[in-house]
Amino acid sequence: MLAPNSRLQLANQTPVRADGRYVVYWMLAQRRTRYSFGLQHAIQRARDLDVPLLVVEALSCSYRWASDRMHAFAIQGMGDQRDAFEGSPIEYYPYVEPKEDAGLGLHAALGKEACLYVTDHWPCFHMPKWVAMVASELDVSMEVVDSCGILPVRSVPKAFARAHDFRRQVHRDVYEALQDIPVPSPLEGELPRPFDGFPKGFEKRYPRTDLDEKAIGKLISKLPIDHDVEPVQAAVGGQAEALRRLDTFIDERLPNYLERNKPEVKAASGLSPWLHWGHVSSHEIFKRVADREGWDPSAIEGQKATGKREGWWGMSPESEGFLDELVTWREVCFNTCEMRPKDYGKYEALPDFAKKTLEEHAGDPRPQTYTLDQFERAATHDTLWNAAQNQLRREGVIHNYLRMLWGKKILHWSKTPKEAHRIMVELNNKYGLDGRDPNSWGGIMWTLGRYDRAWGPEREIFGKVRYMTSENTARKIRVKNYIAEYAEAGNQTELFGSS
Ligand SMILES: Cc1cc2nc3c(=O)[nH]c(=O)nc-3n(C[C@H](O)[C@H](O)[C@H](O)COP(=O)(O)OP(=O)(O)OC[C@H]3O[C@@H](n4cnc5c(N)ncnc54)[C@H](O)[C@@H]3O)c2cc1C
Repeated sequence: MLAPNSRLQLANQTPVRADGRYVVYWMLAQRRTRYSFGLQHAIQRARDLDVPLLVVEALSCSYRWASDRMHAFAIQGMGDQRDAFEGSPIEYYPYVEPKEDAGLGLHAALGKEACLYVTDHWPCFHMPKWVAMVASELDVSMEVVDSCGILPVRSVPKAFARAHDFRRQVHRDVYEALQDIPVPSPLEGELPRPFDGFPKGFEKRYPRTDLDEKAIGKLISKLPIDHDVEPVQAAVGGQAEALRRLDTFIDERLPNYLERNKPEVKAASGLSPWLHWGHVSSHEIFKRVADREGWDPSAIEGQKATGKREGWWGMSPESEGFLDELVTWREVCFNTCEMRPKDYGKYEALPDFAKKTLEEHAGDPRPQTYTLDQFERAATHDTLWNAAQNQLRREGVIHNYLRMLWGKKILHWSKTPKEAHRIMVELNNKYGLDGRDPNSWGGIMWTLGRYDRAWGPEREIFGKVRYMTSENTARKIRVKNYIAEYAEAGNQTELFGSS
C-alpha cells in the first residue's frame, strides 16, 4: 500500500519521530478518499508505525482568485470527505481559514507531536511554495506523494516542447506506469489505530470548520475573498458528484466523444473542475474507460512507441480520442509545470518561433482592441465570443472547442500578445472552476504557440501561430443554439441559502 518510489519525494531532511503520537496526511491537492496514492501511503505509514492517522484538509482564504465560487466547490468536497471518514478510526479535520493568516502555524503545531507528515505533490500555482514553506517549519519528516496523473510526473526529467513528442513518451512509459495504480477504496482496507487526541489547545486555536450548509454560507459571506464570483449552481463539488458525472460520461457521452467539438452534442466528460480539485483521480477515469473496452495493460505490453494518436491503445476510436486528452494533453501540461517551475506560465517561456513571430506582428493593426474590463463583461462585437465568456462567468468552464476560440480571439483583439496573455490568465483563473491548473497555463500558452508548430500561411497578428476565427468556427460547427443559450452572463442565486 505504500506509494511507489517513483511517486515519492522528501520535502525536508528531518527524521521521522519514532515516539510521535500520529501521522498527519495534509490532503492538499488530491481531495478525495478514492484512488489516491497520498492517502493510501499515509494509511500504510501510520500502520507501520502503529500510530493513528489524522487527515487535515484546509482551505486558505488568501490565495489569488479565491472567491465564493472556488470556496463553495472545495467545501462541498470537504463534506464528502467528512462523510467518507465517518465511522472510520481515521480522524478527518476540515479547516476553512476564517480570516487571512488565521491558519498560520497550523502545521507546525500538529507537527510537534507527529511521527511524520505526508502530503500531495502538485506542480503549479501556490502548492509547491506552500509545501516547501510547511516542510521548513516542521520539525518532523515530510513525504510528498505524486497522484497527479497516470505517469509519475517526474518519470521523464525533461520538458517536452511538443505534444507529439510527449505522446511518444507516454507510449514508452505507460505500460510500466500502469503496473502501479492506487488502491480504489483505501478506507475499506486495514486501517490505523483510532485517533486519540490533538495537541493541547490545537482545536481552540484552529477551530474545526462546521460543514453544515447554513454555517458555511455564513462563513463564506464573511471571508476576505471575491464575493462577485458566485458559486455555480449546476456544478456541485466533491467526489460523489464527480463519480455521478463519470458514470454519465461513460454510459452516455463517451460513445459520442469524436463529435465533442460540436456544442450541441453532449460528448465531453465535463470533469475538468473535479479533476482540478482532486475530487476524482485520472486513474479512476482511465480504469472506467478500460473496463468499458474490456481492456487491460497486457494489450500494450512490449508495443512499439509510435507517437500515433490513433490505433495505439487498441481501443475504440472514441476511447482512444478521450485518452489522448486525459493522458497526453493533460500530462504534458503537468510535465511543463514540473520541469519549468519558474516560468511555466510566463509569456517569455513560449517557444522561440512563437515569440519571434508574435513579436514581428506585434505592430500589426488590430481590427478592434478591447480592454480586460471589456473582455470580462463579454462586451465585444462578436456574439460567439461573448457567449463563450458568458459561459465562463456563469458555469466556470467553456465548451471544449470554443475555449480555443476564446483564447485565440483574445490574442487577435488585444493590443499586444503579452497583454493577451495577461488577460487570458486573469479571466481563466478568476472564473474557471478548473482554473489555476497545469492545464490552465497549458491551454493559454497553447493559444500563443506552445506545444504546436509553426503554421503557414503567415497571417496578420498571429504570424505563424495557428489561428482560428469565429466565422470559420461557425462554418464548422453549429453555434446558433450556443449563442442563444449564453447570450447573457445570467444571474446566480445563492447556493447556501441566506443566513
Ligand atoms: C485558452 C484555454 C484555457 C484552458 N484552461 C483550462 C483550465 O483552466 N483548466 C483545464 O482543466 N483545462 C483548460 N483548458 C484545456 C481544455 O480546454 C479543458 O481541459 C477541457 O475543455 C475540459 O473539458 P472536459 O473536462 O469536458 O474535457 P474532456 O474532453 O472530457 O477531457 C478529459 C480531461 O482531459 C484533460 N484535457 C482535455 N482537453 C485538454 C487540453 N486541450 N489540454 C490539457 N488537458 C486537456 C482535462 O483534464 C479534461 O478534464 C484550456 C484550454 C484553452 C485553449
